Amino acid sequence: MNQTEMRALLSQHGIMLTKSLGQNFLHDGNQLRRIASAGDIQPADKLLEIGPGLGPLTELLLAGGNEVLAIEKDRRLIPLLEERFGKLPNFNLLHDDALRVVEDQTRDWHDWKLVANLPYSVASPILVELAHNPRKPARLVATLQLEVAQRLMAKTDGDDYGILTLLVQLHYQATELFKIPPKCFFPAPDVDSACITLVRREEPLLSPELVPKFERIVKTAFSQRRKMMMKLLKQNWPMDRLESAFNDLGLPSQIRAEKVSLEQFAELTKALA
Ligand code: SAM
Repeated sequence: MNQTEMRALLSQHGIMLTKSLGQNFLHDGNQLRRIASAGDIQPADKLLEIGPGLGPLTELLLAGGNEVLAIEKDRRLIPLLEERFGKLPNFNLLHDDALRVVEDQTRDWHDWKLVANLPYSVASPILVELAHNPRKPARLVATLQLEVAQRLMAKTDGDDYGILTLLVQLHYQATELFKIPPKCFFPAPDVDSACITLVRREEPLLSPELVPKFERIVKTAFSQRRKMMMKLLKQNWPMDRLESAFNDLGLPSQIRAEKVSLEQFAELTKALA
């Protein structure tokens, strides 16, 4: 679907775009195909698309015959999507706030893959909620703001490395990032964009009951990036336990959180459990 077709479809339905809903539609066929192929879609995969918009990505996802669940918040786009895809047996459309849907941690996404050009303002919480789910999706392919993409893909000891990196990478391996120029969207967004691929860890680094403790340690450790991590953790854990855990893990007592790897945070969680 090119830009002219998008404009025509919008005017036909009398829709003016809403900035607060992150309505920057992707019209570049190559980028859309690249996003779909990052899904590594297999016949049995169920596909979750958050924010189908006018449906350019939806169309590609439906073409393979996979079951697709598209969640769209903007009521005005619902009839348009129904008109385009409603007759296809593999198309399921939910008119809802996707954040509210993924916050329901009882939903089972285990056989699902997220493939989406996300609304940027809620992209991080959506990914964190999905990663947190005990029955999380096998793969998350998400187009979002470059800055957020870099935080999700970050490695230890970089400016982008932090709470978001660790909360998601505990459950997923970040495998790929490609940038998408603003001109590929209609209208062009003010920020740069990228598509990332996160693949679920089949061997979890921590057992589920330790995950809340890991999250608490990470959030406390990064509450003041420039401060020594032990000083921050001391608010919640006794000093003697911290000292012996740091010692056992070979972590210097002056170390700052950004120098501590995901695996070290996981080991520290076990040591403080
Ligand atoms: N997938 C389309 C594309 O690539 O052209 C549209 C992507 S656009 C960046 C984001 C879409 O998410 C818009 O259609 C917007 O209405 C929708 N949206 C915004 N907030 C949402 C939310 N909380 N839940 C579900 N959809 C939302």
